[in-house]
Amino acid sequence: MNNTNDVASIQATLKNAGVEVTPEQINEKFQQLLEFKVTGPEAKRNVLRSLAFAAGIEMNSLYQNGETVPVTIGEIRPGMRVELRAKVVQLWDSTSDKIAQTGLIGDSTGVIKFTIWENSEKELLEEGASYRITGASISSYNDKCQLNINKNTTITQLEEEVEVKAQEEEFTGAIVSIQNGSGLIKRCPECNRQLKKGVCGEHGKVDGTYDLRIKAVIDNGIEVRELILDAEQTCALTGISLDKAKEMATEAMDASVVEAEITEMTLGRFYTVTGSPMSRYTLVKAMAPKVPTLVADSAAISAELEAI
Ligand SMILES: [Zn+2]
Repeated sequence: MNNTNDVASIQATLKNAGVEVTPEQINEKFQQLLEFKVTGPEAKRNVLRSLAFAAGIEMNSLYQNGETVPVTIGEIRPGMRVELRAKVVQLWDSTSDKIAQTGLIGDSTGVIKFTIWENSEKELLEEGASYRITGASISSYNDKCQLNINKNTTITQLEEEVEVKAQEEEFTGAIVSIQNGSGLIKRCPECNRQLKKGVCGEHGKVDGTYDLRIKAVIDNGIEVRELILDAEQTCALTGISLDKAKEMATEAMDASVVEAEITEMTLGRFYTVTGSPMSRYTLVKAMAPKVPTLVADSAAISAELEAI
């Protein structure tokens, strides 16, 4: 009644780690889990873990020999080849032509960056869709794991939706654009949408309420993120509060001075951002200036050159 492929695969994985188990032993474990209604990849993972533990083997050491192991994202370690079920949380623009697609996928234990390499010739993933990904390799970059989808990876879209744990991401880069709709804006009191010339797309001409925000694009040379800062984060970053912004607009008789001032202060500067990926935007929870060594060095070099 259990998947014979699963039984054979568990037996092979354990054998590679020097542990001999019989199909009967494996089936018995599956049977126990079935009583708790644990089935599918979760059951396979549990059986493997339980038999490895009984033999005194670390789950991690099972991953070193190229076998594909069903895991949750929370269990992922560098060097593994994994099978997992995950939902695409966010897609990012890639600026490398070696990368077909990159973004974040998640399950109930966490999220991980994924990369579909151009030479994998895989179809691209859809944001919000859930997939079973088999045979992806895990590498580590800046102490963070990433999932690599290459030629040997199989991707199947799932009917059911995988539940994702809410997550935060840290990203360091330069602000390359402050977008329209930043600074002092007016929102519809009914639906909170931004007004265009006093008009809400849904409710027509309304008396708007003022709000302050920044929509920005940050770029680390490889990838970009679209950031949204609310009034509080905008003030923390620029020192411009909502009241100050209103004053500035009144004084200049033009609300766009606020966006211009924000652009002047932030464009081209480096920041480290912590935020939650929400669809295409990252909602900023914290943002601090960062001076990268390279830029500092090149500034010093050009200062020296000018002195010559
Ligand atoms: Zn409205």
